[in-house]
Amino acid sequence: MGKKTQHCLLLLLCLSGLAHYSAAMVFWTAMVEISYANSSNVTVDKYCDCGVYGRNSLLEKASGIVTLPRGDPKGCGSDPVYNRNSSSVPWIALVKRGNCTFSEKINAAKRQGAVGVVVYNFDGSGNSTNHMAHSEATGIVAIMIGNSQGMEIVRLVSNGTDVQMLIDLGSPHGSWMDTYWLYFLSIAFFIVTAASIAYFVFISVNRLYSMNAHRRTERKLMSEAKKAIGRLQVRKLKTGDEETASDSHMCAVCIESYKAGEVVTVLTCDHIFHKDCIEPWLLQRRTCPMCKCDILKALGVEEETKESLSVEPPPDVTVITVTGGQPMYEVPLTDPARPDPERLPHHYDNGAYEVDSLAVSR
Ligand SMILES: [Zn+2]
Ligand SMILES: [Zn+2]
Repeated sequence: MGKKTQHCLLLLLCLSGLAHYSAAMVFWTAMVEISYANSSNVTVDKYCDCGVYGRNSLLEKASGIVTLPRGDPKGCGSDPVYNRNSSSVPWIALVKRGNCTFSEKINAAKRQGAVGVVVYNFDGSGNSTNHMAHSEATGIVAIMIGNSQGMEIVRLVSNGTDVQMLIDLGSPHGSWMDTYWLYFLSIAFFIVTAASIAYFVFISVNRLYSMNAHRRTERKLMSEAKKAIGRLQVRKLKTGDEETASDSHMCAVCIESYKAGEVVTVLTCDHIFHKDCIEPWLLQRRTCPMCKCDILKALGVEEETKESLSVEPPPDVTVITVTGGQPMYEVPLTDPARPDPERLPHHYDNGAYEVDSLAVSR
C-alpha cells in the first residue's frame, strides 16, 4: 500500500507540474497590420498573425506610428530614449530584444507616452518569437514579433517612411485545448485515484476481517481443544503394563517406547501417547496423529461450545465417585433440555471405570 501511495503522490506531482506548465503556455497571438505609402505613393498594407502578447501585457488593440529609439535600437539607457512626447499622435515603439530587460524597454517607451511596445527578436532568430515576461511593466500593450518582421519595419522607418501599425488580439493559442486537456487529465486522475483508494480500502478491510475471523476461529478451536484435552483419560504407566512390556509400543509423536512411571494420554480412538507429547499436538491439530480421529467431534466439544454461547440452562450434573470417594469426573448424565444419544457414549465414563479397574488391580 505504501508503494502505491508513493506512486499516486508522484503522479499528482507530475500533474501539478503539468498544470503550471500549461498555465504558463497560455498565450495570445497578436495580429500586426502595417500600412505605409511606397515610393510610387501607393499605400501598402501588410498583415500577419505573427506577434505574441507579453505575459503582463494589456490584452487589447493598439495603433499608432511606428517609432524607433533615437540611438541604440535596443531601447535601453536613460530617458529620453525616443524623439516623441505624449502630446503628439499615438505612437508605437519598435525595439530590439537584448541589453536590458523587457520591463526596462517597455517602461522607457511608456514613460514617453507610447501606446504600445513591439519587441523584435535577436538577429538570426528568423520568425521565432517568445512569450515575454515583463512583470515590472504593466498597463500597456506589449507584443513580440520575429526578427525578420521587425527588421523589415525598421528598414522602412529608417528610410523615413511613416509606418502606421495596428496591433490586435489574435487567438488564444492552445490555451483552450490545454485547459480542456488539463480538465480531462484532472478528472481522469481523480477517478483513477478514487478507484484505487476504494479498491485498497476494500482489500485491506477484507483482509483485516478475514484475519480477525481466522484468529477468532483459531482461539475458539484452541480453547475447545483445551477443554477436550481436559476430558481425555490420563494414566501413569507401571512396570508390568502391556505398553511398557515390549518395544513395539511406542509414542508416535516422539518415536520412543514407553517406560514405567511415564504419564500417557488415551485418545478417544484408544491410541496412546505421552501426555507431554500429545497435548501440544492436540492444541494445534485436534486430531489423533495415527488415525486422524477428531477429538473435538468424538467428545462433542464443538457442539457444546455452540450451545454454551446460547442461553441454555446448564445440564444436571451427577458426580460419580470412585476409589476412596474422590470425585473423578463430572459427567452430565441427564440432559432434559436436549437428550442427545450420540453424545453420551463419548463422555468417557468408561475412563472412570478403567481407573476403577486399575485401582482394583493395584
Ligand atoms: Zn512421546
Ligand atoms: Zn487414533
